[in-house]
Amino acid sequence: MAIDFSNTEVAFRSKNNAELKKAYWLFKMVSKPGLVNFGKWAMTISLKLHLPVKWLIKKTIFSQFCGGENIDECASTIKNLDDNKVGTILDYSLEGKETNADLDATTQEIIATIERAKADNAIPFSVFKPSGISKFSILEKSNESIDGLNGEERADYLKFVERMNKICKKAYDLGVPVFVDAEDSWIQDTIDRMCEVMMSKYNKDAAIVYTTVQMYRWDRLEYLKTLCEKARRENIKIGVKLVRGAYMEKERDRAQEKGYKDPIQPNKKATDDDYNRALAFCVENLDVISICAGSHNEDSANVLVDLIEEKGLDATDTRLYFAQLLGMSDHISFNLSSNGYNVAKYVPYGPVKEVMPYLIRRAQENTSVAGQTGRELSLIQKERKRRKG
Ligand SMILES: Cc1cc2nc3c(=O)[nH]c(=O)nc-3n(C[C@H](O)[C@H](O)[C@H](O)COP(=O)(O)OP(=O)(O)OC[C@H]3O[C@@H](n4cnc5c(N)ncnc54)[C@H](O)[C@@H]3O)c2cc1C
Repeated sequence: MAIDFSNTEVAFRSKNNAELKKAYWLFKMVSKPGLVNFGKWAMTISLKLHLPVKWLIKKTIFSQFCGGENIDECASTIKNLDDNKVGTILDYSLEGKETNADLDATTQEIIATIERAKADNAIPFSVFKPSGISKFSILEKSNESIDGLNGEERADYLKFVERMNKICKKAYDLGVPVFVDAEDSWIQDTIDRMCEVMMSKYNKDAAIVYTTVQMYRWDRLEYLKTLCEKARRENIKIGVKLVRGAYMEKERDRAQEKGYKDPIQPNKKATDDDYNRALAFCVENLDVISICAGSHNEDSANVLVDLIEEKGLDATDTRLYFAQLLGMSDHISFNLSSNGYNVAKYVPYGPVKEVMPYLIRRAQENTSVAGQTGRELSLIQKERKRRKG
């Protein structure tokens, strides 16, 4: 039976009245695109000038969408989610690092999240972004082939391979599954190639390494099928995080600018249809595929719920997971978990200044233009009214 995601009592039970009021105020602020653009500019400048705005950011947008500045600071968020049977996925959200020292440091921090997950049942997965452990230009240059790399570039590419292997090996040794996030299509072939190598190496008995498949690309359902064939051919498991995809405008703009075929589906319906087909394909092949549906779309959540029921699968089967981002779509996360499904939330963390690009993206995604805020706001409003009686 489809889940009723409009139950706001369940959706917001982890938030007290003050927290709910704060969330309402915050979503109201970010619903105004002009204010978001001004805020983005003002915050970036203020941080650069070392003006004392960190506390303001930390108390507002940071506390809505991030767990803390380091792993220890995330403890209360982890507990709060766990109290509501929702798992945590610690997401070290540093972007744009380019020196080998910084990239090594990020690798070490990701390893620390895997170790923390091993020690805590409230953390079912770990995650990382490949561009967080490699120079971007190296991922881009090696996208078609590594043959064109010069000596220095080849050394940097090998460092990326080494870091990726270090993370996946640690995940394997500790038995903590790790998600590899998907990124821009012009670096995604490099990422896919590495994910496949890691899955062949570490997914012999269970899905430890999860690749991410972006269904806003028209070629991804076919790719998913080739992954399944690989699993059967090599007698391995495939881990797949299924998402729609976060970089649509950038993808379309670049394709137009450079004059190649747009890799994105022609419209939203085509993306939705392929997403739901991919869910069905994964469930059909659950003997070799483990899935995590990373989405804030209620219909897709219910498509997977229905598939689980139709096939008579156990909702607590760890090959079936739902995931959302901290601070967003709590009505989906908490209603799923209260109905017995496996759910986890990405809990981004890192120094305030470093996670600003992530926070700005969340704010932009939540403007009235993108359409998310209307839903978040009306659900919060409904719950505040209910509590007042
Ligand atoms: C746990 C989690 C992990 C994630 N990991 C990644 C990741 O590794 N890589 C990544 O890229 N994204 C990732 N995302 C973001 C995700 O890809 C989406 O951007 C976001 O979740 C919004 O999509 P939705 O499924 O929630 O549904 P909706 O809000 O219903 O769908 C919005 C999405 O539909 C697609 N879309 C919208 N309009 C059109 C159109 N006109 N034509 C074609 N397609 C359209 C776009 O992908 C857009 O983001 C993740 C999200 C979650 C919750």
